[in-house]
Amino acid sequence: MTRLFCKIIAAPMGTTSEGDFGGVRCRTILNIRRWWFLALGVIATFGCRLPSQPSPIALPTRHSVDNDHLRVRSDIRLPPNHPLLHDLDRLRVEISETLFLPDQRQSVTVYLFEDEAVYSQYLQLRYPQLPPRRAYFVGTLKELAVYTYWSEKIQEDLRHEYTHGVLHASLPQVPLWLDEGLAEYFEVASRSKGLNHEYATRLAADFSNGWRPNLERLESLEAVADMKKADYIEAWAWVHFMLHQSDDSRGLLISYLRELRSAEKPELLSARMRVEIPQAEERFAAHASSLFSGLATVGGKSL
Ligand SMILES: [Zn+2]
Repeated sequence: MTRLFCKIIAAPMGTTSEGDFGGVRCRTILNIRRWWFLALGVIATFGCRLPSQPSPIALPTRHSVDNDHLRVRSDIRLPPNHPLLHDLDRLRVEISETLFLPDQRQSVTVYLFEDEAVYSQYLQLRYPQLPPRRAYFVGTLKELAVYTYWSEKIQEDLRHEYTHGVLHASLPQVPLWLDEGLAEYFEVASRSKGLNHEYATRLAADFSNGWRPNLERLESLEAVADMKKADYIEAWAWVHFMLHQSDDSRGLLISYLRELRSAEKPELLSARMRVEIPQAEERFAAHASSLFSGLATVGGKSL
């Protein structure tokens, strides 16, 4: 199933885990898995208001698991040694080590509903503008939250959304396309790091139909409403290219992420790439082709 990220920079007022708004303006980043962007809308200084009646649908609280980086609130019992939790813990380390991220400034909270219907009802009440999707990441100054329900895609969904959480727990800003590209990359839980077979196949077909990558265009997409599935695939592909094509390309991504820690408005990655990675588009094309053929190598090592 395709997925689409929806990144909304709104100004809801100090969202709490109970779903009320406390009146403190904050920046909300909301990732929507699966297709279609929705505009939550930018809320003015005191934009969000409490519904007059408390929601009858509550967040999962029956079971909880906490560690330094992850809080899980669920309707179903997940023991601390559950494979999914171990996977997320390993994923956090993998993300941090791969991208050389600084320590997380806050933990990520996963609200795991047992039942899709209850999850959908909660989101409909809490965020009535949102279309039904399997999982969301919502980041506010107060909380980095993942909302989802138990499904056959739970591992993939958690990995994708938790990646957003780790990124936003570690960095003050992440460009839209890169945020999604990294989440798409790290959601893949296989030994072929970040290799999404569906995307690699689609990319090869696109190339054969005359498509060419355009990072500048991707960077210009500031609103998720403008992002289509092809943009998510291209974002994933640029991330895979940078992390695997060469030491230079990997170094470019790492240094850019380092700059995101502090620079208010960092230079576009595409501008750096033009300087630091000659013939980047040709190398990108070659990398995509090698992914499709299954012969991609990095420094002589198999992917
Ligand atoms: Zn996403």
